[in-house]
Amino acid sequence: MDGTPLTAHSRAEIRLFCKATLCPLCAKGPLEPLAPDEQSSQAGAHTAGVRVRCKACGEPSEFSFRLPPDPPSELSGELEIINPTEDPSRIIDVSQWITLYAVLYEEAARTAAGPRKRLLELQAGQCLDEALKFFEDDQNDLPPASAFFDDSARLRLRDHPQEFSRQRLISFRASLPRPLG
Ligand SMILES: [Zn+2]
Repeated sequence: MDGTPLTAHSRAEIRLFCKATLCPLCAKGPLEPLAPDEQSSQAGAHTAGVRVRCKACGEPSEFSFRLPPDPPSELSGELEIINPTEDPSRIIDVSQWITLYAVLYEEAARTAAGPRKRLLELQAGQCLDEALKFFEDDQNDLPPASAFFDDSARLRLRDHPQEFSRQRLISFRASLPRPLG
């Protein structure tokens, strides 16, 4: 990776980025964080370096992130705020949010009723909230091209547009809980 830091809204968003991003070397993954992220203060903005190792090819890589001066932390219990702003993510695209939602939703479905299941459902709902931030106006049921960060994601839109239907995502969201307070 080059030295330009990626812009993140929170450490939770960085963790999800690692979960959703393919290895830059072999294009597989998943990427596993090697060590707790290090942080340094730089001109009022925080930066975080995250070293990861690819589980497929074993190669390490490193990502550098810029965080807001006061990144959000826990919302309630273990649930973390991903992005308190209305702006869509700049590191995880709409396609990756929908994949993260599906992974968390399936994990919740396999989990017995209890606090763990509820946490997974809340996290799945957060991923849908982030995906929905990419939609521009009420006229279009599909996200704009700018909501996709690479060609493989744009191909997914072309081949499976129904996966990206705003109405479909809103109906999934309605079945999931929202955090209290
Ligand atoms: Zn790899």
